[in-house]
Amino acid sequence: MSAMSILRIHEFPDEVLRRPADPVGNVDGRLQALIDDMFETLYAAPGLGLAAPQVGAPLQLFVYDMGIREGERERKIILNPTIVEQEGEIAEEEGCLSIPDYREIVKRAAKVFLKGYDRDGRELQIEAHGLEARLFQHELDHLNGVLMFERLSPLKRDLFQRRLKKRLKTAGE
Ligand SMILES: [Zn+2]
Repeated sequence: MSAMSILRIHEFPDEVLRRPADPVGNVDGRLQALIDDMFETLYAAPGLGLAAPQVGAPLQLFVYDMGIREGERERKIILNPTIVEQEGEIAEEEGCLSIPDYREIVKRAAKVFLKGYDRDGRELQIEAHGLEARLFQHELDHLNGVLMFERLSPLKRDLFQRRLKKRLKTAGE
């Protein structure tokens, strides 16, 4: 038995965050270990959701735990997810573990219907709304190499990029 470890969360502008991830073929011991490590990393951050590319693994999977806020753990994992239907639109604030100290209002579908697989290869069909629907769309974007600021209006996106350049410059001095 190997001990679980906390992985490094890659941050923007790391290239691994901009590449579409590969579908998961088979769930072997190595992948199970990665999933366990991703939960350790999620709880340590702490965050609600974490996609594999964020820890440098270009695979279509994400872990999440909506129970965190009630102090009750509810580990959930989705492999090879796709959103097959979506409805409505809602603008709410969100953040990203790969873009520290940044929160912004992002428009997302209000309700989504997601299909995927669990860690045992069983098919999942989840109808989500509210925060869960937002999380699904955010994590799915990660699997497509898309970051939340790309969902903003051109004006806000420009503002984000200027702020970031300033921060990177300051960090380099
Ligand atoms: Zn994120």
